Amino acid sequence: MIEVEIKAKIENPKYEIEKLDKLGAKYSHTERQHDIYFNAPDKDYKKTDEALRIRKIPKNDTEFEKILTYKGPKLNDISKTRKEIEVEISSITKMTEILENLGFKKAATVDKIRRIFTYENYTITIDKLEKLGTYMEIEDVVKEDANIDEICDNIMEIFKKLDITDNFERTSYLELLEENKE
Ligand code: ATP
Ligand code: CA
Ligand code: CA
Repeated sequence: MIEVEIKAKIENPKYEIEKLDKLGAKYSHTERQHDIYFNAPDKDYKKTDEALRIRKIPKNDTEFEKILTYKGPKLNDISKTRKEIEVEISSITKMTEILENLGFKKAATVDKIRRIFTYENYTITIDKLEKLGTYMEIEDVVKEDANIDEICDNIMEIFKKLDITDNFERTSYLELLEENKE
């Protein structure tokens, strides 16, 4: 599948949530996401614009949702459109061991609280990251042959309806965190 996603920095999440409600977006749930990014022994994913990630999301006091994700390089200029393959895994420890035995190395971790809304066929998230602030992402996941430009236009139309017309961000959370350190 292809992930088509546009992200914008927002200053006042409360206000944006009110606007989402007025628009008719439905609140789904809130997740605390802990992401571990890996780098390959022979490739720098920062250079190839790919990503390999294990995501851990607490479901309750004892259980976690655990997802392994591959992301391909960005396919267009304005959005963060890319191939995305996700698979549920049963053990983060064992998956990490497999990757490390093959020479993959932990590159970074990213933590955030993600509030998830749905609107038509889109997923809208409000992500709060320590040190970075709050961002809104609007995403559609589509088949390989979809018309990406049209989907980007539709996503921009939703941002417009929410009165968000600037502060768009194409840089990943991981890179933003790295910039923030410097
Ligand atoms: P998702 O939309 O899948 O929930 P997210 O919103 O948490 O992910 P994004 O910033 O949208 O995070 O995407 C993760 C980004 O991290 C990707 O753009 C990827 O290219 C980038 N990335 C992965 N590994 C590295 C690395 N080693 N160095 C720099 N950037 C990386
Ligand atoms: Ca994203
Ligand atoms: Ca996404």
